[in-house]
Amino acid sequence: MSTSERFDCHYCKDSLLGKKYIMKEDTQYCTKCYENLFANCCEGCSSPINCNSKDLSYKDRHWHEQCFQCAKCSRSLVDKAFAAKDDLLLCTECYAHDYSSKCSTCKKTIMPGSRKMEYKGNSWHETCFLCHRCQQPIGTKSFIPKDSGYFCVACFEKQFAYQCCACKKVGTSLCDFLYTLTYQDKPWHRECFVCIGCRKQLSGQRFTTRENYPYCLECFSNLYAKKCVGCTKPITSESRIVLMFSFTLTPLIQFSCLYLHVFKYCQKNLVTISH
Ligand SMILES: [Zn+2]
Ligand SMILES: [Zn+2]
Ligand SMILES: [Zn+2]
Ligand SMILES: [Zn+2]
Ligand SMILES: [Zn+2]
Ligand SMILES: [Zn+2]
Ligand SMILES: [Zn+2]
Ligand SMILES: [Zn+2]
Repeated sequence: MSTSERFDCHYCKDSLLGKKYIMKEDTQYCTKCYENLFANCCEGCSSPINCNSKDLSYKDRHWHEQCFQCAKCSRSLVDKAFAAKDDLLLCTECYAHDYSSKCSTCKKTIMPGSRKMEYKGNSWHETCFLCHRCQQPIGTKSFIPKDSGYFCVACFEKQFAYQCCACKKVGTSLCDFLYTLTYQDKPWHRECFVCIGCRKQLSGQRFTTRENYPYCLECFSNLYAKKCVGCTKPITSESRIVLMFSFTLTPLIQFSCLYLHVFKYCQKNLVTISH
């Protein structure tokens, strides 16, 4: 037999004529050599996957067809959907049972691979995560949580639109909304919540009210507090407290003091009156 007619295993050089052989990269091998050299080891039973069985692979891992099964219930995963958890392959039922979250709305399991929404530790089927107002799925759109519900932006604006108590403009955008404050349960723009007297912004300031109008403390005492006849400054509630402690004076002096400023600062006037 001439060299050109020889057909040998590339590795052991045994003749392959009339025998089963396997080609790999244009080179022929006898089945035994091929298995020793190239066969993958099965993840399930740890033996090589020979040429008589199908080699099933997933992410560089290999199984015999009969070894490719759910790690939990041992049902075959061939031609089925499955899920990988750590190193385990699980049928979708076992995976869902052990690892899937339940939908906060319909309470059913969210099957692996199905689209879901997650927010603050809760999960929903995509079709179950609805806007509280329009009842449409929010999907990938932005949403705003409010009380225990979720709103799509359009509905949030409609539901919580406000009218500024002062300028009567209606707020429509979320951005506007953040720049308002609430006083007596009514919304105001920050820049619209001002002292009735001097128009100074009162947001973040101490203020007082009379007949439901807001005043800065200065305007209020200028307009409404009793004035000291001694120094003409307004008598605030703090100055009256000081007068309460001046009972050692004669009744006449006490009476005069009611319209005088803080006792110790107006000593000069008190002395004059008592004479
Ligand atoms: Zn060989
Ligand atoms: Zn196996
Ligand atoms: Zn299973
Ligand atoms: Zn659901
Ligand atoms: Zn909506
Ligand atoms: Zn306003
Ligand atoms: Zn003022
Ligand atoms: Zn005074």
